[in-house]
Amino acid sequence: MQKNVYLDYNATTPCNKDIWLQMQGIACNSYNSSSIHSFGRKAESIVENSRRILLQKTNAVNKRAIFNSCGTEANNLVVKGFNHDRKIFVSSIEHASIYKLDNITLIKVDKHGIIDLDDLEEKLSNYDGKSLVSVMLANNETGVIQPIKKVVEICNKFDCIVHTDASQAFGKIKVDYADLGVDLMTLSSHKIYAPQGIGVLICNKKLQPNPLISGGGQEYSFRSGTLNVPAIYGFGLACEKIDDLIEKQKDIEILRDFLEDTIITKFNDCKIISKGACRLKNTSYIAMNGVDVNTQLIHFDMSGFSVSSGSACSSGKVGKSHVLESMGLPKDIVNSSVRVSLGLETTKEEIINFIDCWGSLYKRINSNKIKKVS
Ligand code: PLP
Repeated sequence: MQKNVYLDYNATTPCNKDIWLQMQGIACNSYNSSSIHSFGRKAESIVENSRRILLQKTNAVNKRAIFNSCGTEANNLVVKGFNHDRKIFVSSIEHASIYKLDNITLIKVDKHGIIDLDDLEEKLSNYDGKSLVSVMLANNETGVIQPIKKVVEICNKFDCIVHTDASQAFGKIKVDYADLGVDLMTLSSHKIYAPQGIGVLICNKKLQPNPLISGGGQEYSFRSGTLNVPAIYGFGLACEKIDDLIEKQKDIEILRDFLEDTIITKFNDCKIISKGACRLKNTSYIAMNGVDVNTQLIHFDMSGFSVSSGSACSSGKVGKSHVLESMGLPKDIVNSSVRVSLGLETTKEEIINFIDCWGSLYKRINSNKIKKVS
């Protein structure tokens, strides 16, 4: 029997084995970075070293890195940490950890899933007070990369701070905090072959978000709680490898393009979402027109392929993708699109087998249609 094939790397990545082994060495010690004795000081030096690497690798030296539990928490800290005195504007395709929060105003995207800059400017012009704009660097469903520098240019005309959620982009494209010009940036460790349970908010030191969690005053009092030292260590190790990871995306792109080109050439009635847009090299969102997402996911899963409906990440349930709906795509496309995201361990053989599996469902459904008509 064929082994299960993982094609859902945008949901999470496996932790690099060397990193995991090195983390174990740290986890077996009594390391609380808040303690003042020698164990505590050792823990603190591990944390500070990871913080330094992370800030250096994102070109955010001299900025503040606030460690927390995950990208979701970092995003919550942004929206809830600033909404006491700023109006929050976010793109309509943000991750659920942003767009589902209360009291936000949505900015439109176009049919390719790219933020509508005119809509952003108009909404900011029509608002007199202080604001915060949050636009992700790359979308987790379509992979579409957003024009953050242009967003910043517009926001700079107003009393507005800018956040980008770079959770999905980090490790797939160069992420340069200074070059983007943002004030706040979210990253998540488990998207870059590092452990789950650790995220970070990179923050301009002038900004003071209201903390979500109070207590011992860790992380400059913006996020209390004993730090997850082994995971922070692992995150730092993965950041050291980030350039190499980005370089490897070129090989992944070859497999992704092979997948898309073969499906488009062999089958009618299918669509690659945002194919013409600037996208992450590992992400493909494929609509098998007329075939419900659930039917597809069950078929793929039973055949040993783990893929995802773009919107399933949060609850395990398959809902309608708010990203595809925001893009104004027709219902039949929204209801029939499956996200395939490739990673370091993906092989050509796996992609060939996946195409066969995709084709077998396509042929079965289409032959049923023909039988019904005759
Ligand atoms: N932001 C984006 C763009 C994501 O893709 C995800 C996870 O899929 C998150 C935030 C949430 O990150 P975490 O799983 O670390 O909470």
